[in-house]
Amino acid sequence: MKKLGVVGFGASSIGYIYGLIESGRLKDYEVVVFERGKDHMHNTISGVRMDGKIFISKSMGGEIDVPLEIQEKIVEFYLLHSGFKPTVGKEKGTIAYLRSFERNGRKIEFGESFADETVYRKFYHHGFEPVKAYFFHLGTDVLRETNHNIYEYFKSFDNIHFEFDTVVGDVDLGPPHVVHTNKGSFSFDELVIAVGRSGHKLMDRLKEKYPYLVKENHFVDIGVRYEVPNHVMEKYFDMYEVKVRYKTKTGYLCRLFCQNPAGKVVLEKYDDFTTVNGYSDTFHKTENTNFAILVTTRFTEPFNDPTGYGVNLAKLANILAGDKRKVILQTYGDFKEYRRTKRLGRVRPTLDEEGYILGDANLVFPAKIRESLVDFVENLDKVVEGVAYFDNLLYAVEVKFYSNKFLNDIVEGLHVVGDCSGWTRSIQYATSMGYMRALGVRVQHL
Ligand SMILES: Cc1cc2nc3c(=O)[nH]c(=O)nc-3n(C[C@H](O)[C@H](O)[C@H](O)COP(=O)(O)OP(=O)(O)OC[C@H]3O[C@@H](n4cnc5c(N)ncnc54)[C@H](O)[C@@H]3O)c2cc1C
Repeated sequence: MKKLGVVGFGASSIGYIYGLIESGRLKDYEVVVFERGKDHMHNTISGVRMDGKIFISKSMGGEIDVPLEIQEKIVEFYLLHSGFKPTVGKEKGTIAYLRSFERNGRKIEFGESFADETVYRKFYHHGFEPVKAYFFHLGTDVLRETNHNIYEYFKSFDNIHFEFDTVVGDVDLGPPHVVHTNKGSFSFDELVIAVGRSGHKLMDRLKEKYPYLVKENHFVDIGVRYEVPNHVMEKYFDMYEVKVRYKTKTGYLCRLFCQNPAGKVVLEKYDDFTTVNGYSDTFHKTENTNFAILVTTRFTEPFNDPTGYGVNLAKLANILAGDKRKVILQTYGDFKEYRRTKRLGRVRPTLDEEGYILGDANLVFPAKIRESLVDFVENLDKVVEGVAYFDNLLYAVEVKFYSNKFLNDIVEGLHVVGDCSGWTRSIQYATSMGYMRALGVRVQHL
């Protein structure tokens, strides 16, 4: 039996282990999963612990080609482990089949973006590029059960073991591959690295030691979490997520995504800085809808540290907020007029009060990013009336770290999957990437 180490227990390692089970290859391995969380319910916050919006789309969520049949299979896997069951009469492997899933008589929350051609055309007319997708929303409350069920399912195999409270700080590549943890060092014939975005320190270490594994990337996405009253976005609630891209007047591409109808803004805590994100529950609704507005910036040589750039802007926001666990909150009107926000208007923040300080995000963003954000909101307001209300809220900063792209098939028995590989940025694509690697399917980069 081969020894297989899996670092991280999130979406991509779930996909990998599921792939081993599905392909019948699990019997060839003794698997040890290292997770830094103290148990399966307490690992790093991510979409598999919070929100859980799983989509099917060929044009968002990652830069790899994931066949639609695999995407459907992944959705089905999560639904089945969340206590949802298909209702009879729908053909397996179709969207209608997945839409038919129910739990205690309640249908899975489903949305299809831009199914309505008039909505599609309206965005298109104003210069936006609408992205089509199907969404299945589990919700933070249901996800607790999902994680528990998946963990129990994997644990029921004698040859899958979990080591919680275990941080992998370094790796020596072989084979054998050696992982160094706070509980000692362990050797494996094969190694899956699946530490997500929160594992960026380990990935930096790997990049430093094994630069040939990395395909340099000079992109970084930086912006804000934006919050509006539900009524501004409610006519788009049925499509679940409005995801659009827009070329702003600075030449930078700006995008709206990760929309959470009636949701909450939340802190995303890294070891030494804090950013923002959002989620929504199935059962607990709020009065506000939040979404990310991010600007994609592309740098050229000699710049080679997009992650560092994002981290430093996030830290700057934390410094201005006076605490590494606080972000800056500002009204859109004040941001646009370069004024520090001293008092809020009609929109009440859903982020807990101890997580923010009222301030001025203009002191954080470089001019080109700031101009792109304002241009985006002003143009979006032509389509979604009310998006530019003066008292809508913005939280700074939101950053997406997926810039360094790790190459697989260079070191024997090494699989770098999910967001830490730089090729994915969603539950669907991270899980699928793990699944495809376990099946031995070639993962095509886009
Ligand atoms: C708040 C939030 C909400 C989101 N909502 C959605 C959504 O609704 N839909 C969607 O598609 N995507 C969403 N995302 C993105 C999605 O969660 C990720 O793209 C996806 O989970 C990536 O999977 P992964 O396996 O690469 O990483 P993760 O799922 O993050 O798993 C990585 C695991 O590795 C562990 N780890 C990290 N470093 C170490 C280490 N050194 N040693 C041991 N263990 C380590 C972490 O604790 C974590 O459990 C959200 C992200 C966040 C932060």
